[in-house]
Amino acid sequence: MVGGGIIGLFSAYYIVRRGFNVLVVDAGHVKASRFNAGFIVPSFALTTRFTLLDAIKALLGLGPVRVSIPGPGLSWLFNAYRSVSTTGLSAVRELGYRSLELYEELFSREHLDVDATRGVIALFLRREDAEAFSKSVRGDLIDSRELESYGYRGFEAGIFVREELALDPEKLHDSMIRALEDYGVRFINDRVLRIQEEERVKLSLAKTGVIEADYSILASGSWTRDLTAPLGYNPRVEPARGLVVKIPVRGDIIGKPGLMEDYGVAVQQHKSTGILRITGFFELLGYSGNWSRSRVEWLLDKVRRHLAIPREVRFEELELTTGFRPCTPTMTPVIGHIPGTMKIIVATGHCRLGLTLAPATGELVADIIEGSKPKLSWEAVKELAPRR
Ligand SMILES: Cc1cc2nc3c(=O)[nH]c(=O)nc-3n(C[C@H](O)[C@H](O)[C@H](O)COP(=O)(O)OP(=O)(O)OC[C@H]3O[C@@H](n4cnc5c(N)ncnc54)[C@H](O)[C@@H]3O)c2cc1C
Repeated sequence: MVGGGIIGLFSAYYIVRRGFNVLVVDAGHVKASRFNAGFIVPSFALTTRFTLLDAIKALLGLGPVRVSIPGPGLSWLFNAYRSVSTTGLSAVRELGYRSLELYEELFSREHLDVDATRGVIALFLRREDAEAFSKSVRGDLIDSRELESYGYRGFEAGIFVREELALDPEKLHDSMIRALEDYGVRFINDRVLRIQEEERVKLSLAKTGVIEADYSILASGSWTRDLTAPLGYNPRVEPARGLVVKIPVRGDIIGKPGLMEDYGVAVQQHKSTGILRITGFFELLGYSGNWSRSRVEWLLDKVRRHLAIPREVRFEELELTTGFRPCTPTMTPVIGHIPGTMKIIVATGHCRLGLTLAPATGELVADIIEGSKPKLSWEAVKELAPRR
């Protein structure tokens, strides 16, 4: 397994449970899988795609989405706009709902400590937007009074999705590693430089040298293109960075995790520590982890406007981290054999939904390796395949 982010870990989990030996090689890059909002929300999977207005705003640097000009982000954005609501919609939804079932199984089987909260609210400044959203999401429309009882003010309406959840992604990542170690999965901290398919798969590692395997799975997130290019395949994955701000607060600020849909900002409060986790932005600007103070203030301003956060929380006290989402222009993952290979499988491109889609992705990777019938429909498997 190349990559120890959430996609690599869930793939390792379903493969090792089918009786294969698994080795995870990870280069130690900053993982999107630790620095994200922590929402498991299949209902929300297909509600945000790029419209022309979004694309124009992104080019002008207005709002939460930005792209660099010139740069790969520009052609990515053009493709994203062109493919709005075409490819992958039902496949992503299938992956999401299957993953929700698998999370339930996982939580009862492995007893993971992840600080999970059930029930997630999508928040809207205008009631008509909430009503429009409710047509594509399995949830209940709730009014501003009910939202205030959950700690959110200034929203006209929300959609409460009872069965979906939020958790602490760092705890999920840590506890998945512990569970995998218990299953006998081995981990190496090293960077894979090159992969070749011969009778077996040969992986050249920066420190360890060459190792061989029966199969190789590339779950290397936004860096996957570096490894697939020499194999003649480009998954068209770009890093879309997002900011995670952690604020230590006293007491309960919010009753349920919320997605402020008008700003693309997510908020949850971890039960065990009380820390508020706030995330936002979708920026195709390469791998920089630097954020201007004005950008961070923009995020905090939105949160302060709608939540009762103490004024005394100072910029200097905030913990800021960056995650790089691996995004294809259609925001649909690529899962399957790399064209022209028999033993090299790619699993990446999960963009804004890697946590939400990880278990079913891992299960599909295990099905492919084992040669067993996938739990997903054939249409979905085809839509996710690299040769689509
Ligand atoms: C701000 C933000 C909020 C988000 N919120 C949510 C959310 O609420 N819900 C949700 O479902 N998703 C969310 N996401 C998306 C989710 O975090 C990602 O889709 C997911 O983490 C991608 O996982 P990954 O394993 O593909 O990539 P990563 O976590 O990036 O892991 C890739 C791994 O590959 C390794 N690697 C790369 N190249 C090599 C190499 N050559 N050799 C060895 N190792 C290598 C890296 O070291 C890294 O550990 C969010 C993302 C961000 C940034």
